[in-house]
Amino acid sequence: ASWRDPKRYLKCELTPFGDEKLLIIYDVTRLHHLEQMRRDFVANVSHELRTPLTVLMGYLENFSDQPDMPPHWQRGFELMTQQTARMNRIVNDLLLLSRIEIEETHEFHYINMTKLLTHIYDDAQAYNSEYGHSIRLQIDTYDGLYGSEMYLNSALSNLVINAIKYTPKGGNITISWAKTSEGCRFAVEDDGIGIAPQHITRLTERFYRIDSGRSRATGGTGLGLAIVKHVLYQYDVNLQIESTEGVGSTFSALFPANHIRSEPTL
Ligand code: ADP
Repeated sequence: ASWRDPKRYLKCELTPFGDEKLLIIYDVTRLHHLEQMRRDFVANVSHELRTPLTVLMGYLENFSDQPDMPPHWQRGFELMTQQTARMNRIVNDLLLLSRIEIEETHEFHYINMTKLLTHIYDDAQAYNSEYGHSIRLQIDTYDGLYGSEMYLNSALSNLVINAIKYTPKGGNITISWAKTSEGCRFAVEDDGIGIAPQHITRLTERFYRIDSGRSRATGGTGLGLAIVKHVLYQYDVNLQIESTEGVGSTFSALFPANHIRSEPTL
C-alpha cells in the first residue's frame, strides 16, 4: 500500500533514545482490518442465531405447557428451556457488545444520574429478593453525565447485579455517585466473596470467570464486565477494581469533568 493510501492505520510511539527522543510509527492497518473482521463476524453470527433461538423458545414454552406430557419428558423439557434461555442471554450480550464496539459514534445526550441510579437501585431491589442484602444508594451530587443512557444503564446495572450475585446472603452493598476534584465517581462496594489479585487484570476479558459453575448458576454469561469496559471507553474511563478475597470488592469509574453536565444542554 502506498503512504498516500487514506485508509492506513498508524500507531505512533515516542521513546527515549539516548539524549534524544525516537518516534516509532507502526503500520497497524492489517491488524485493524483483522479486528474489524472479527467484530463483524461476531455481530453476524449473533444476529443470525436470534431467529432460530426465538422459534426454539416459543415451541419449548408451548410444549412445556402440555398437561399430558409423560413425566420422564418433563425434566428434559425443563433442561432444554433453561439452556435455550442461557444461550439467548449469551447471544443478546454478544450482540450488545458488538453494537458498542462497532458504533463508534453514539448519540450522546444529557443523562440525569439521580434518575438513572434510582431506576437501577429499584431493579436491583427486585433482583435482591432471594439474597436479602442491605442495599444503600448514596447520591452526593445532582451532576449528570453527557453520554448514551441505554449503554450506561447496561454497564452500571451489570456492576450492581454482580455485587448482589457475588455476595453471600445478607451482605451489604453501597451504590454511590459523588463529586471529586477530577469529575464524578460512580462506585459499587460489596462485602462479598472478593477476588484474588491474579484474576483482577483479566476480569474484563470476554468469558473470563473465576468460578464458571457459580457464574452459570446465577445466570451469568461471562460478558458483563467486557460490556462495562467497552461502555466506559466511550467516556475515556477505565474500570477500577479493588478487592480482597473474602472481604469484598469495589468497582468504580471516575468520569472526567468534560463528560459531566449539571443540567440538560438544550
Ligand atoms: P458473569 O456473567 O460470570 O458474572 P462478568 O463479566 O460480569 O461475568 O464477571 C466476570 C467474573 O468476575 C465473574 O464470573 C466473577 O467471577 C467475577 N466478579 C464480578 N463481579 C464480582 C464481585 N462483585 N465480587 C466478586 N467477583 C466478581
